[in-house]
Amino acid sequence: MDTSKEKTGWSDEELEASVDAYLKMLVLEQQNQPFNKADENRLLRKGPLSKRSASSVEYRMQNISAVMDQLGLPRITGYVSAKNLGSGVIARIKEILAKKDMEAIRNSSRGGAQLTRLRLVEPSAPELNDAPPGVLNPKLTNATVVRLSRKLNVKKWVLKRSQGICEGCGQKAPFQDADGKPFLEVHHLKHLVNGGTDRTSNAVALCPNCHRRCHYSSDKDEFTAKFYSSVEGLEAE
Ligand SMILES: [Zn+2]
Ligand SMILES: [Zn+2]
Repeated sequence: MDTSKEKTGWSDEELEASVDAYLKMLVLEQQNQPFNKADENRLLRKGPLSKRSASSVEYRMQNISAVMDQLGLPRITGYVSAKNLGSGVIARIKEILAKKDMEAIRNSSRGGAQLTRLRLVEPSAPELNDAPPGVLNPKLTNATVVRLSRKLNVKKWVLKRSQGICEGCGQKAPFQDADGKPFLEVHHLKHLVNGGTDRTSNAVALCPNCHRRCHYSSDKDEFTAKFYSSVEGLEAE
């Protein structure tokens, strides 16, 4: 639709710098911490966006808000969604958002090309046919990431993958939860506090016994190592 130079001329690096700044501010906002949009704008124009004007950086931020809206993700309240942007820009911003989470698993066993096409799971799509991209740096962006990862359905997808069978011992979930679903707990093989990612490639669905075993047993390291060969799609971090 709109293919004017000003819209399409942005390099991937410029768009990515905008997305990074946006996510940084979003985290601060979600944590009720102060931030200054004008300062961030200036900072960007001193660095990667030196070719851009203040208003075009501002407009780019509104584009990102529009994409966050589309994906059902939280957005910065101060940046109203700019709806009338070319679909090319939307697609590129989405791609950058997804790629952030995808980079480390691009080389995983299922093959890279397919994985890079993985889209962010939209909340309107209840069927999870593709693994959601998850969150690469959960400890850096705590409050927002908890929300994001919930939106991205990492936990839901891992539970679905297990089909109600503990991925540790192969037994059926010991009981059903209040909604009548098999009760299993999602565990991160490399713990989040140690810098593990919140992605399906780092998470397993476990019965409470196996979950405790991962955390407290004398053989927790050996027990944990086994998952990488027994569960498809996991990736050691
Ligand atoms: Zn188990
Ligand atoms: Zn755990």
